[in-house]
Amino acid sequence: MSAPSPGTAGDGTAGDGTAGDVLVVGAGPVGLTAALALRAYGLPVTVLEAGPEGRQRPGSRAIFTHSQTLQILDRISPGLGAELYRHGVYWNTQRTFHAGKEVYAKTYPDPPAGVYPHFTSLPQVQIEAYLQARAVAAGVTFAWEQEIADVTTSDDGVVLTTAAGRRWDASYVVGADGSRSVVRKQIGARMEGTRDEGWYVVVDVAEKDEPSLPNERHFHYAHPAVDGRNVLIVPFAGGYRVDLQLVEKDDPEELASPEGVRGWLDAVLPPGYAERTTWVSTYQFLQLVAHDFADPHRRVLLVGEAAHLFAPFGARGLNSGVPDAEAAAIAIAAASRATAAAARTPVEAFALARRSAALFNRDAAGEALAHLRPDEETAARVLAAAERAPEDAEASVWLEKAPYGPRGVHRAETVYRY
Ligand SMILES: Cc1cc2nc3c(=O)[nH]c(=O)nc-3n(C[C@H](O)[C@H](O)[C@H](O)COP(=O)(O)OP(=O)(O)OC[C@H]3O[C@@H](n4cnc5c(N)ncnc54)[C@H](O)[C@@H]3O)c2cc1C
Repeated sequence: MSAPSPGTAGDGTAGDGTAGDVLVVGAGPVGLTAALALRAYGLPVTVLEAGPEGRQRPGSRAIFTHSQTLQILDRISPGLGAELYRHGVYWNTQRTFHAGKEVYAKTYPDPPAGVYPHFTSLPQVQIEAYLQARAVAAGVTFAWEQEIADVTTSDDGVVLTTAAGRRWDASYVVGADGSRSVVRKQIGARMEGTRDEGWYVVVDVAEKDEPSLPNERHFHYAHPAVDGRNVLIVPFAGGYRVDLQLVEKDDPEELASPEGVRGWLDAVLPPGYAERTTWVSTYQFLQLVAHDFADPHRRVLLVGEAAHLFAPFGARGLNSGVPDAEAAAIAIAAASRATAAAARTPVEAFALARRSAALFNRDAAGEALAHLRPDEETAARVLAAAERAPEDAEASVWLEKAPYGPRGVHRAETVYRY
């Protein structure tokens, strides 16, 4: 079933924001979640988005939505988590291979009735469509083609100015404008961390009418059909995502070209999938966290990729952006009710708690990255474990889990209330 086509609140050309309104910059999944959460707290909210109404964003990107994320979405818009779960796919079986030999395989039992499985998998573009439809129904106003260029904050509020010179006034602003966030730069927040030098090519393929791939997640260390590169194959509603980890001598552009993709995809998937490619992208992964998640006046709150960028192993991007967004809404609701003297406290608590969650997630994704781009000692450990697995259960489980980083979530993912 296809995702809904969201409408627009009012005529889609919302008037200038007035002091007292909350503005969200960015209609990505995290900005949309923040807008919904603000409405759940009864606050009027307008989303300012640089892109045009009805735009089509490419690629599956954040396919893997954790059950904790579904629960948060249910809290801010009852039934939304269940809606995503219904339209996503879930698989019980996970397999890990080393140089073509199966070193781990496990099939989990279905979750009991009424309980979400650990995740649901559907393309980010569909997640955004469901969020946007809910936001419109909840009374969020949208203003499209509003590219924010300037942010001025004071103890009393925020003034945003678009590249076209339009002015928007707000009591609070949620900065959800993604990895190149102008809001972040304008409030003087610095990104701290590293860029990983390794390259990945990421490809989406559409499912065939008669699927010849199993509904399972497969991770290959040293896939023999592609000269020992690592390969990850993950199902999502409507298709599969295939990640190829490049080695030092590889040219990312060549392996991402139509001929390059066809060459390696045909080697790792059954026949007929390569010509069903719907998206190709190349990535180097950043591991960055803003030094502060709010401006000095505590009026602008940063969430999602405006505040942090992680390597995707463990799916910590969207899954930590959603709790950021809920926490920002709770903080703004509390600050709006507080006396002027007390209004900073909830925003301060938001900034500290979410930054600490982001540092935890950055380090966890960093452990996965270090495992996938191993030094000599780790490479030798992987090889030794692969020789012992699957008979040696400890080695087998380690090979399966390590590419995703440590399990669990930071305690700040558990929602707090004032
Ligand atoms: C290959 C890949 C795989 C991934 N897999 C997963 C996964 O499985 N699970 C997971 O949780 N995460 C995953 N992620 C991460 C996930 O895609 C991001 O965390 C998510 O898109 C961030 O959402 P966001 O709303 O913060 O930012 P974005 O989605 O980037 O949205 C920002 C919005 O702000 C708008 N904007 C930008 N600048 C301005 C401006 N100046 N004024 C107004 N509007 C502006 C943009 O147009 C955009 O609509 C993956 C990412 C990649 C690249």
